[in-house]
Amino acid sequence: MVVVAVRLWWLFMLLALFEFCKAKTQVDGLKNAFGKKLPSHRIFRDLFAREQRDEEPTDVFVSTARTLLAQLPDIPVLDKTHKLNMVNGLLSSRICNSIPRDQVTDFTKLIEKAYAVKVNFAEDQESKRKPKPERPKCHYCHNFGHVQSECP
Ligand SMILES: [Zn+2]
Repeated sequence: MVVVAVRLWWLFMLLALFEFCKAKTQVDGLKNAFGKKLPSHRIFRDLFAREQRDEEPTDVFVSTARTLLAQLPDIPVLDKTHKLNMVNGLLSSRICNSIPRDQVTDFTKLIEKAYAVKVNFAEDQESKRKPKPERPKCHYCHNFGHVQSECP
Protein backbone atom coordinates (compact mmCIF):
# COMPACT_ATOMS: atom_id res chain seq x y z
CA MET A 1 0.00 0.00 0.00
CA VAL A 2 2.81 2.39 0.93
CA VAL A 3 4.64 1.51 -2.27
CA VAL A 4 1.59 2.35 -4.34
CA ALA A 5 1.20 5.65 -2.54
CA VAL A 6 4.84 6.56 -3.12
CA ARG A 7 4.56 5.64 -6.79
CA LEU A 8 1.43 7.72 -7.13
CA TRP A 9 3.15 10.62 -5.41
CA TRP A 10 6.03 10.39 -7.87
CA LEU A 11 3.63 10.27 -10.74
CA PHE A 12 1.90 13.43 -9.54
CA MET A 13 5.23 15.16 -9.01
CA LEU A 14 6.30 14.29 -12.55
CA LEU A 15 2.99 15.52 -13.91
CA ALA A 16 3.32 18.77 -11.98
CA LEU A 17 6.87 19.21 -13.27
CA PHE A 18 5.70 18.55 -16.80
CA GLU A 19 2.93 21.15 -16.47
CA PHE A 20 5.37 23.63 -15.02
CA CYS A 21 7.81 23.15 -17.91
CA LYS A 22 5.00 23.48 -20.43
CA ALA A 23 3.84 26.73 -18.82
CA LYS A 24 7.39 28.07 -18.68
CA THR A 25 7.93 27.29 -22.35
CA GLN A 26 4.75 29.15 -23.17
CA VAL A 27 5.85 32.18 -21.17
CA ASP A 28 9.28 32.15 -22.83
CA GLY A 29 7.54 31.84 -26.17
CA LEU A 30 5.41 34.86 -25.32
CA LYS A 31 8.48 36.85 -24.41
CA ASN A 32 9.97 36.10 -27.80
CA ALA A 33 6.69 36.87 -29.54
CA PHE A 34 6.74 40.35 -28.00
CA GLY A 35 10.16 40.93 -29.48
CA LYS A 36 13.66 40.24 -28.41
CA LYS A 37 14.73 41.27 -24.94
CA LEU A 38 16.38 44.65 -24.97
CA PRO A 39 19.87 44.97 -23.54
CA SER A 40 19.89 46.94 -20.27
CA HIS A 41 21.48 50.07 -21.71
CA ARG A 42 18.77 50.26 -24.35
CA ILE A 43 16.08 49.90 -21.69
CA PHE A 44 17.46 52.87 -19.78
CA ARG A 45 17.92 54.84 -22.98
CA ASP A 46 14.25 54.29 -23.87
CA LEU A 47 13.11 54.98 -20.33
CA PHE A 48 14.89 58.31 -20.05
CA ALA A 49 14.16 59.33 -23.62
CA ARG A 50 11.20 61.41 -22.61
CA GLU A 51 9.17 62.74 -19.71
CA GLN A 52 5.47 62.36 -19.16
CA ARG A 53 3.51 64.87 -21.20
CA ASP A 54 1.01 67.03 -19.35
CA GLU A 55 -2.01 65.45 -20.99
CA GLU A 56 -0.67 61.89 -20.74
CA PRO A 57 -2.49 59.78 -18.12
CA THR A 58 -0.11 58.83 -15.33
CA ASP A 59 -1.23 55.20 -15.18
CA VAL A 60 -0.38 54.78 -18.86
CA PHE A 61 2.97 56.49 -18.49
CA VAL A 62 3.87 54.50 -15.38
CA SER A 63 2.87 51.15 -16.82
CA THR A 64 4.90 51.81 -19.97
CA ALA A 65 7.90 52.64 -17.81
CA ARG A 66 7.33 49.55 -15.68
CA THR A 67 7.09 47.34 -18.77
CA LEU A 68 10.49 48.62 -19.81
CA LEU A 69 11.96 48.11 -16.34
CA ALA A 70 10.52 44.60 -16.20
CA GLN A 71 12.77 43.65 -19.09
CA LEU A 72 15.87 44.28 -17.04
CA PRO A 73 17.80 41.12 -16.12
CA ASP A 74 17.11 39.66 -12.66
CA ILE A 75 20.75 40.09 -11.73
CA PRO A 76 22.01 42.58 -10.68
CA VAL A 77 18.84 43.50 -8.81
CA LEU A 78 17.64 47.05 -9.36
CA ASP A 79 16.10 48.14 -6.09
CA LYS A 80 12.39 49.01 -6.05
CA THR A 81 13.23 52.41 -4.57
CA HIS A 82 15.49 53.24 -7.50
CA LYS A 83 12.79 52.22 -9.95
CA LEU A 84 10.29 54.44 -8.16
CA ASN A 85 12.76 57.33 -8.11
CA MET A 86 13.40 56.99 -11.82
CA VAL A 87 9.76 56.89 -12.83
CA ASN A 88 8.85 59.59 -10.32
CA GLY A 89 11.51 61.85 -11.78
CA LEU A 90 10.09 61.42 -15.25
CA LEU A 91 6.59 62.52 -14.34
CA SER A 92 5.37 65.82 -15.71
CA SER A 93 6.68 68.59 -13.47
CA ARG A 94 3.15 69.57 -12.45
CA ILE A 95 2.49 66.13 -11.00
CA CYS A 96 6.02 65.51 -9.77
CA ASN A 97 6.11 68.78 -7.82
CA SER A 98 2.70 68.16 -6.25
CA ILE A 99 3.50 64.76 -4.80
CA PRO A 100 5.83 64.62 -1.80
CA ARG A 101 8.29 61.85 -2.65
CA ASP A 102 8.08 60.34 0.84
CA GLN A 103 4.37 59.67 0.34
CA VAL A 104 5.08 57.46 -2.64
CA THR A 105 5.90 54.00 -1.35
CA ASP A 106 5.04 52.01 -4.46
CA PHE A 107 3.75 52.42 -8.00
CA THR A 108 0.11 51.99 -6.97
CA LYS A 109 0.45 54.86 -4.50
CA LEU A 110 2.17 56.92 -7.16
CA ILE A 111 -0.71 56.47 -9.61
CA GLU A 112 -3.24 57.17 -6.84
CA LYS A 113 -1.53 60.41 -5.83
CA ALA A 114 -1.07 61.50 -9.42
CA TYR A 115 -4.75 60.93 -10.04
CA ALA A 116 -5.64 63.12 -7.05
CA VAL A 117 -3.34 65.86 -8.35
CA LYS A 118 -5.00 65.66 -11.74
CA VAL A 119 -8.50 65.91 -10.24
CA ASN A 120 -7.47 68.88 -8.08
CA PHE A 121 -5.89 70.57 -11.06
CA ALA A 122 -9.01 70.04 -13.17
CA GLU A 123 -11.20 71.43 -10.38
CA ASP A 124 -8.85 74.38 -10.08
CA GLN A 125 -9.11 75.10 -13.79
CA GLU A 126 -12.87 74.75 -13.60
CA SER A 127 -13.18 77.25 -10.75
CA LYS A 128 -10.88 79.68 -12.58
CA ARG A 129 -13.07 79.48 -15.65
CA LYS A 130 -16.25 80.27 -13.77
CA PRO A 131 -16.62 84.00 -13.25
CA LYS A 132 -16.88 84.79 -9.58
CA PRO A 133 -20.38 85.83 -8.60
CA GLU A 134 -20.26 89.57 -8.19
CA ARG A 135 -21.02 90.93 -4.76
CA PRO A 136 -23.64 93.58 -4.79
CA LYS A 137 -22.40 97.09 -4.07
CA CYS A 138 -24.49 99.76 -2.46
CA HIS A 139 -24.44 103.04 -4.36
CA TYR A 140 -25.46 104.89 -1.24
CA CYS A 141 -22.90 103.85 1.37
CA HIS A 142 -20.43 102.31 -1.14
CA ASN A 143 -20.21 99.16 0.91
CA PHE A 144 -20.41 95.68 -0.55
CA GLY A 145 -22.96 93.02 0.31
CA HIS A 146 -26.20 94.88 -0.24
CA VAL A 147 -27.82 97.28 -2.66
CA GLN A 148 -29.04 100.82 -2.12
CA SER A 149 -32.67 99.74 -1.65
CA GLU A 150 -31.59 97.39 1.14
CA CYS A 151 -29.22 99.85 2.77
CA PRO A 152 -29.70 99.75 6.54
ZN1 LIG B 1 -25.49 100.77 1.82
